[in-house]
Amino acid sequence: MNFLEQRILRDGIVKEGNVLKVDSFLNHQMDIALLEEIGQEFHRRFADKKITKVLTIESSGIAIAYPVAKAFGVPLVFAKKAKSINIDGEVYAADVTSFTYQTNNQVIVSKKFLSADDHVLIIDDFLANGYALQGLISLVEAADATVEGLGIAIEKGFQEGGMRMRNLGYRLESLAIVDSMNARTGEIVFRAQD
Ligand code: 5GP
Repeated sequence: MNFLEQRILRDGIVKEGNVLKVDSFLNHQMDIALLEEIGQEFHRRFADKKITKVLTIESSGIAIAYPVAKAFGVPLVFAKKAKSINIDGEVYAADVTSFTYQTNNQVIVSKKFLSADDHVLIIDDFLANGYALQGLISLVEAADATVEGLGIAIEKGFQEGGMRMRNLGYRLESLAIVDSMNARTGEIVFRAQD
């Protein structure tokens, strides 16, 4: 079991509705040493790729993506949630349905910060149905840049996002894949990985 899986077992809380709460160490209170370790691990896993930018989505993706960008020595760009009224020709925009809030958001990135010669590593905290990743991928495609890989801290393997991304041919690295979890007993089962 790796360092993140151990921490999830220790401090993660399974909620009704297929939600795993990790807000004591990842997305409310943050364990900086753990985040640094996550950054190093993604750097190791994507060491064969020439990454020029790390892209994530606000807000909880930023904490994970920061140490990754630091490890690669490249800028971190985060997609902002925007009211469509603000959208102008200076941004790339994509629609994302929020898993946690069940709302539809438009996310934007300024055209200044993604261009055709960028090789992008997309990072997020969770992968559930894959809407956030899909939105981020379309921003990269709108810029004619290249998606080099997808890095996820916690994939919920019983939801369809991971399978969809792998079927589309993306290199997806998830540090922890939850195959099942039970809100009543609190049990969490991880997929075995190399
Ligand atoms: P997806 O777009 O893949 O359906 O969901 C991923 C997004 O929803 C992530 O950006 C994450 O913020 C949020 N999310 C999905 N599932 C969970 C969960 O179980 N716990 C938490 N804390 N966030 C989640």
